[in-house]
Amino acid sequence: MKINKFLDTLIIGAGFAGMYCLHKQISDGFIAEIYEQGGDVGGTWYWNRYPGARCDIESMDYSYSFSEELQQEWNWKEKYGTQPELLNYAKHVCEKFNLRQKINFNKKIIKAVFNKKTEKWIVSSDDNIHIECKYFILATGNLSTPNTPNISGINNFEGSIYHTGAWPKEMPKFEERTVGVIGTGSSGVQSIPIISETAKNVLVFQRTPNFSLPARHTKLPEDKRDNYKKNYTMYRTLAKNSSFGIAKYQPPTQSAFDVNEDERNKIYQKAWEEGGQAMLFSFTDLLTDKRANDTAAEFVRNKIRDIVSDKDVADKLCPFDHPIGTKRLCLDSNYFQTYNKQNVSLIDISKNPISEITKNGLLTNNTEYKFDDLVFATGFDAMTGAVNAIDIINDNEVSLKSKWADGPKTYLGIMVSEFPNLFMITGPQSPGVKSQMILSIEQHVDFIHGLILHNKNNNFRQVYAKSKNQDEWVNHNNDVAHSTLYPLAHSWYNGDNIIGKKRNFMPYVGGVANYKKLCDEIIKNDYEGFEFT
Ligand code: NAP
Repeated sequence: MKINKFLDTLIIGAGFAGMYCLHKQISDGFIAEIYEQGGDVGGTWYWNRYPGARCDIESMDYSYSFSEELQQEWNWKEKYGTQPELLNYAKHVCEKFNLRQKINFNKKIIKAVFNKKTEKWIVSSDDNIHIECKYFILATGNLSTPNTPNISGINNFEGSIYHTGAWPKEMPKFEERTVGVIGTGSSGVQSIPIISETAKNVLVFQRTPNFSLPARHTKLPEDKRDNYKKNYTMYRTLAKNSSFGIAKYQPPTQSAFDVNEDERNKIYQKAWEEGGQAMLFSFTDLLTDKRANDTAAEFVRNKIRDIVSDKDVADKLCPFDHPIGTKRLCLDSNYFQTYNKQNVSLIDISKNPISEITKNGLLTNNTEYKFDDLVFATGFDAMTGAVNAIDIINDNEVSLKSKWADGPKTYLGIMVSEFPNLFMITGPQSPGVKSQMILSIEQHVDFIHGLILHNKNNNFRQVYAKSKNQDEWVNHNNDVAHSTLYPLAHSWYNGDNIIGKKRNFMPYVGGVANYKKLCDEIIKNDYEGFEFT
């Protein structure tokens, strides 16, 4: 095989994880490059261009902290960054740190094989470029492999089909058109109100209702932004010491039953008015005690009943199948209000699932629905999808996919035993998706970079995770998850949304502060659990 390029480090993905990782690597003199299947930087924010796409974490938090100059010079305009604003930010970072010339765009990596003799990875793209590298880093994202359900007849549909997670660059026009939307997770909840502003009619096909809280989105007032900037050190420290990685969400101190019902509802009301995820941080036991959780869930269901004028529609929108917060909470701007509009219809498909897509719409068990365009807001093969899409083979000719057949197993969500010099940024069993992502990304990249420097400075050739420590970490991850209500939900956290995927609770829910403390201890103990050869 002809090798086209020799690198120290190959990184896949030019989202926030890949870019920061590349910056660290080249700053320390490594010959490093990114391979990215998209046409520009941004990752999630490159692909998810659907109407209404914006972050569910406030901009002043959802941003890099590694460069004081960057965090002072960038002026967020909106409380929650819109997709275009976040994409511009990613491009700004790319230019500021001179990363672009080290990024290979429109390149899809499909295979990586560890060569026993050279102790290097040979990484191959779908256009037959082969790159040899010592370190191979997956910055492939957790929600980056769109899931389009395999519904028969899909090719017969005569209108346009869109997926929120792979939205076209040019915004489709929905004027005078009836649009069918399948899916009511965060992507559906954000896009449905905006699509309904221009479409003639919107038919929402809902299999399971979701809890959604008001985002209370506004323009970001300049004085608030300036105050945050002045005190960034304090806010970032508070974030690092919290469970979710957001300064204002500090651990609650009282149980939902330490107060009476009136007081409890006042606390929920305050959180509801504040917006965002605040409600989940009201009491210590909302995610561990079903009775406590029910009090918050019923509060939100009552809000839905108040907002939606048609009682039948309101009932269909009220979730009962999972404790609130055990699926990623949606944040919305007028989602439930949208169902009061004449041009929006909610179709409950929980009992009559979609059986076929036809040329003019779709069929459920008992009815045909007609529409001009179809939007899949049906989510992602989360956390493992993008990793398993690459055929990664170790020196014993074992594939990572086969190792993960019963679910992912990692040490800290960073390495997999028997796969030397292969790293994941915010992989399964890390707090990544259960935190402010960029904070977790920075912490992971710093940790991985430390491992690589340790390997290099000691003239080691390989670093890998020890199986014993990996097993212990996987067990710990499960123990923590099963001490909470999370496993009760049918969710992408558990892999439930993908047919045939083995059920496993994948994120680490012990919190970012605890996780970082553990990582720091591991470093102090000479990278305990990692083997260097
Ligand atoms: P999702 O939460 O997995 O929701 C997918 C939706 O599609 C669900 O309502 C699901 O129904 C439905 N669905 C899937 N297959 C179906 C089928 N065959 N028939 C009918 N319905 C089907 O996906 P998402 O909304 O894209 O969000 C995924 C994650 O991305 C979020 O949880 C969040 O972490 C992230 N995200 C964040 C933002 C933000 O920052 N604001 C925005 C979008 C996404 P069931 O529930 O019945 O399976």
